[in-house]
Amino acid sequence: MTEAPGIPERARALDAADALAAFRERFRLPRAPNGAAAIYLCGNSLGPMPVAAEAAVRTVLEDWAGLAVGAHHAGQAPWVDFHARFAAPLARLVGAAPAEVVAMNSLTVNLHLMLASFYRPAAGRHRILIEASAFPSDRYAIVSQLRWHGRSAEESLVEVGPRAGADVLATADLIAAIERAGPSLALVLLPGVQYLTGQVLDVAALSAAARRAGAAVGWDLAHAIGNVPLALHDSGADFAAWCSYKYLCGGPGAVAGVFVHERHARERGLPRLAGWWGHDAASRFDMGPDFHAMPGAEGWQLSNPPLLALAPLAAALELFDAAGLGRLREKSLALTDFARELIERNTAGRIEIVTPAAAAEHGAQLSLRVRGGRGRRVFERLAAAGVVGDWREPDVIRLAPAPLYNRFTEVESAVRHLTVALETP
Ligand SMILES: *Cc1c(COP(=O)(O)O)cnc(C)c1O
Repeated sequence: MTEAPGIPERARALDAADALAAFRERFRLPRAPNGAAAIYLCGNSLGPMPVAAEAAVRTVLEDWAGLAVGAHHAGQAPWVDFHARFAAPLARLVGAAPAEVVAMNSLTVNLHLMLASFYRPAAGRHRILIEASAFPSDRYAIVSQLRWHGRSAEESLVEVGPRAGADVLATADLIAAIERAGPSLALVLLPGVQYLTGQVLDVAALSAAARRAGAAVGWDLAHAIGNVPLALHDSGADFAAWCSYKYLCGGPGAVAGVFVHERHARERGLPRLAGWWGHDAASRFDMGPDFHAMPGAEGWQLSNPPLLALAPLAAALELFDAAGLGRLREKSLALTDFARELIERNTAGRIEIVTPAAAAEHGAQLSLRVRGGRGRRVFERLAAAGVVGDWREPDVIRLAPAPLYNRFTEVESAVRHLTVALETP
């Protein structure tokens, strides 16, 4: 092994100077196969449990037990407007006004609800543009929407991939494809952070290009929310959707969310799939036959929310507010820079870092490819050593040090285990 002297000391010094270090104690973190603490670098897939999540769920259970239906209007956190407390903290994370966001449903369901409103194919304008490596659920949703409207992927789907030999998308290529599709383009759906490569896309530039072409534009922020700073309102995007169980640490199946730009807040012509929780709250219980949407994103709600899947998210969002996205991003960049430096120094060209190096183009995740095709074996050795990342077919190891709970010394150990895994035949 070619460990340079001083690296473990540097990692310890970075931890000692870390203003966010205490947040780690506010999470429960998993154990490695040998019983020691795991090095959990998988928050891009499922964030660990905030300690306070347990009490948040218990509160809902206690109110249910003690008050039953009465808990809608009484108890520790009345259920009738429980969802409303999420608007402000979510808006801070995505760069929006509180009325532009709502916590509801799950991500793929929300994509369909947004597409029901914003994909309105007309004779000439029917195409949807996505990226060629889109997360499968997003592609399934898009293709099923095309079919729902009597269209086909062959005719109406535009997929833009990286250039030959490249792993990541070029903004200029996406803009050129948007411009080429021009008057035939109805909608653009792109990821804020690409799930496989960790690349951050330029939300402002691409939203502007889509709108210049006369298309609606939406963003899948599954890997972006709680990871990188966002400015959705100013981007002019029509909508966005995300899940809450990745960087947000809202828990498995946590209630997801959407953004709908304020210019659509009171648009009467916009079709939507409606339900009573999207109906004007003041007259909801009049039980009238006609639907009157609440202004803003809340008007897209269908059902009264699943409280047990919503409560842990409140505990998680309190941590994000206490830490502050600015400080989190600063530490996140320091963690990934440190990881990149150690990987480049210690693995002597045997690992290719797929994720772009420029700060504006990456978040917490580093996607690694083992040269020579032994990636799966290296990944399994890492897992056996207690380093929790994930493997994505065909050949990518994803490691995502998260600034809320990971330490620089964990990054140092993870790269040491990676180096050993590479050197073991
Ligand atoms: C994680 C992820 C999903 C998951 O969808 P669910 O509806 O939450 O199961 C969808 N799209 C992207 C881009 C993701 O990263």
